[in-house]
Amino acid sequence: MIAADRSAAQALDEADPLGAFLERFEPIESGLIYLDGNSLGRLPADTPQRINAVVGHEWGERLIRGWDEGWMALPTTIGDRLATGLLGANPGEVALADSTSVNFFKLAAAALHARPDRREIITDHENFPTDRYVLEGLIERTGHELVWTRPADAAAAVNEDTALVTFSHVDYRTAELYDMAGITHAAHEAGALTLWDLSHSAGAVPVELERAGADLAVGCTYKYLNGGPGSPAFLYVRAEHQAQLRQPIWGWLGRHDPFAMAPGYIPGDGILQTISGTPPVLGLTAAACGIELSIEAGIETIRDKSTQLTEYAIELADALLADHGVSVGSPRDRTRRGGHVSLTHPDARTLTRRLAQRDVIADFREPDVIRLGLSPLTTRFGEVYEALTRLAQLLATPGA
Ligand SMILES: *Cc1c(COP(=O)(O)O)cnc(C)c1O
Repeated sequence: MIAADRSAAQALDEADPLGAFLERFEPIESGLIYLDGNSLGRLPADTPQRINAVVGHEWGERLIRGWDEGWMALPTTIGDRLATGLLGANPGEVALADSTSVNFFKLAAAALHARPDRREIITDHENFPTDRYVLEGLIERTGHELVWTRPADAAAAVNEDTALVTFSHVDYRTAELYDMAGITHAAHEAGALTLWDLSHSAGAVPVELERAGADLAVGCTYKYLNGGPGSPAFLYVRAEHQAQLRQPIWGWLGRHDPFAMAPGYIPGDGILQTISGTPPVLGLTAAACGIELSIEAGIETIRDKSTQLTEYAIELADALLADHGVSVGSPRDRTRRGGHVSLTHPDARTLTRRLAQRDVIADFREPDVIRLGLSPLTTRFGEVYEALTRLAQLLATPGA
């Protein structure tokens, strides 16, 4: 148990092996406590210079030649860095393209196509909205059936009619970290494929796609990976599936030999077939800066600090907030928790707004959740202490 006072936070900050990484980010206004890096990560200090160089030199001077001088390869060169550095995957299995929503559609459709005689998709009614909506839109076209199941019950629900099992790896509200290897194993026993949404895990928890046997995955680069607003998402297709799986958006740049401009679509080699259109070069440039910072810090070191941060936030919540009706909505078992902490209170919406008025930016999530995003590269223990102390003061002075 860590003491719920300022000196404990100071000691934790002094011992923090990632403390120096704060200087690798642009400063934010003094006094602001930013606990929302799991929605939009902070701006790396390298990013403006890199973007300026790409705009000024590569675009401004090299013009169309830029495509042959590296732009066209960005989705896969950055994908390889992400695969091996943070996702436990192999080179050639990850590409950056489009948004998470679009990639989710592409890979979910590919999975259904690969299991043509099966009718069911298993997912969670607590899953992130875009995943649920994309699946609902997809089955309107295909006639599949959605089976709503909590991840813990997936093994019991999967059967010989299941085509696809798809969950988030870390729950966007509660931060619960689900058993990717166990659920994937159960899906495979029944002959189904798995699609994991890693939006709240990439850059926060070690992901072991290869070891878990995962078939498919997608995720954001603008959350813990600090890639910038709307930065391109990533997608993963396990190497052994790449020759058979077919995603439905047959764009020219996913075609074999695109500049032949030939009649008829022939899928590109390996992961290249998942790319539909022209790579978003500026967004990819920013995404690469953020991804490289997390790789440099090391995902195990990131996870250690992340666990300490969430542990500390929970201890403070118990000490300072429990008497005011705030409960901890995240798992107390650190091995089953991702990188954020959810606090629940009936007035969560108002409290989150009042916190913002006191320079603490957190997230409100329906119906009663205050979500504290604790980014290991930028969040200090002292900020967690300050934020929860201010929340305790708010609760002690209703309406103030
Ligand atoms: C943030 C998030 C998304 C966002 O998808 P976009 O297409 O980038 O808007 C998708 N899935 C999960 C689980 C998320 O947390």
